Amino acid sequence: MTPKEVQYLIVGAGIHGLSTAWRIAERLISKGETVEDKVIVIDKSGIAAGASGIACGVVRNNYFQPAMRNLMAHSVGVWESDPQAFSYHPVGYLQISCDSMRQDVSQIFSEQQSIGYESVFIEGEKKSEQYMKNMFDDWQAKGITSVLHEKKGGYANNTKSIYGLAKKAEQLGVRIISGIEVKEIKSESVSKSIKSVVTNKGTISCNHLIVGAGPWVRDFWNMLDLPKVITLKDLSGVSHDNVDMWRFWQLEEGVLQVEPELLKTNDGEMPPVIHVDTDAPLISDVDGSVITEEMWGIYYKPDWHFGGIQGGASPYKVKTPVDKVAIDPYGPSSPEFVSGGEFAHMWVSALAHCHKRFEGMMPKYHNEPSGGIGCFTPDSFPVFDCFFDNATIIADSNHGYKMLGVGRLIADEVMGEKQDLLEPFRFERFEKGNLHPTSNSPFPWS
Ligand SMILES: Cc1cc2nc3c(=O)[nH]c(=O)nc-3n(C[C@H](O)[C@H](O)[C@H](O)COP(=O)(O)OP(=O)(O)OC[C@H]3O[C@@H](n4cnc5c(N)ncnc54)[C@H](O)[C@@H]3O)c2cc1C
Repeated sequence: MTPKEVQYLIVGAGIHGLSTAWRIAERLISKGETVEDKVIVIDKSGIAAGASGIACGVVRNNYFQPAMRNLMAHSVGVWESDPQAFSYHPVGYLQISCDSMRQDVSQIFSEQQSIGYESVFIEGEKKSEQYMKNMFDDWQAKGITSVLHEKKGGYANNTKSIYGLAKKAEQLGVRIISGIEVKEIKSESVSKSIKSVVTNKGTISCNHLIVGAGPWVRDFWNMLDLPKVITLKDLSGVSHDNVDMWRFWQLEEGVLQVEPELLKTNDGEMPPVIHVDTDAPLISDVDGSVITEEMWGIYYKPDWHFGGIQGGASPYKVKTPVDKVAIDPYGPSSPEFVSGGEFAHMWVSALAHCHKRFEGMMPKYHNEPSGGIGCFTPDSFPVFDCFFDNATIIADSNHGYKMLGVGRLIADEVMGEKQDLLEPFRFERFEKGNLHPTSNSPFPWS
């Protein structure tokens, strides 16, 4: 039955909603309070129905932005706290780059050292090639001048980890209710603080509303009547008016249906997650044509959950005006936003560009719909903030499967303790010009 009122109402049974619920429950228990009637997670579909359930699952620290790196280091600690429950594979992560990115990555490395995040950095074309050949004797990518090898991080299996998280929350008394869709948000008439949400199954009053709605954040933003366009002061101090608050990008991912063991290292070990960014011409492995002479990037890993070598490439911007983008049906069920033949051709050719073992493998590409859209902020970094005193929005700008720790920090804030790690992600940064530095990566999230 739909509850009529609750202290902490969390919308979204993805990584953020569930990790927030888990931590609030822990804190209530530590104060000797009950959880059952106080913390409820509702989801219009069910556990892992959104982006968290289709994510590639990569967990890395490799960010040019210091605030992102600090946050990721915190989240990696949470992944490491229970690898089994989270289906987490701490295999590490490789950022393999061409010269235009060398300086950025070198800076990432030195800042990782200063926060004690374990990594090694290889510089120079010959040394980088040798490092990669020591790991994979068929390594053949040219023009690589640096390799950052993060010894922590790796990947987790998307739905398994979200179910693991749900179990942790439920074991502490959190109720997770599927099939309840929020349609409207009502505020107090004087204070504007949030009073209740109207759902397809009735109205629920709450003391605190926490929204972890992934790509659906656009709809909650509108329900809260927050500004659809904003003023943004860029890194050079120039203000821009009427900037759309949200935009969608399509994440391009797919699977090569081979034995995942095919990507073992020379030592017979499971490799780190591999990410390659390069400006070397990308030649089709199918017909020898030039696919691109511009900067391109891919990532990949052996994955038993996806059943092969799984990975992706740079996303593309969705051109449809933001309010007209059809988020549902989401992910591989979308008739509009799925990775197609062009992606497959590029990605498999790029795999073959890197390793001889992938040459001639195009017929093994799994021709099923994959990928999905993400909702991004104007600077492509998260907004974690509280509006109208009691409505917290967790809008991760599609960085977030790896951010298992964010829900814990949000919960601590909701319970009254401001968190320094979240400060650089407030909404006001756009107007104040406190944006995050940008890198030379071809990805909007690095
Ligand atoms: C193809 C793809 C690959 C990705 N790969 C990675 C990766 O490798 N590493 C990484 O860190 N990140 C990755 N991401 C990003 C990551 O998946 C997301 O940032 C993260 O999962 C968002 O989590 P969330 O909890 O905010 O939202 P979601 O997991 O999307 O959950 C939101 C939930 O809200 C529910 N909901 C929506 N509207 C309503 C409503 N009106 N009422 C009730 N419930 C509602 C939905 O049903 C859904 O279950 C990827 C994303 C995509 C699309």
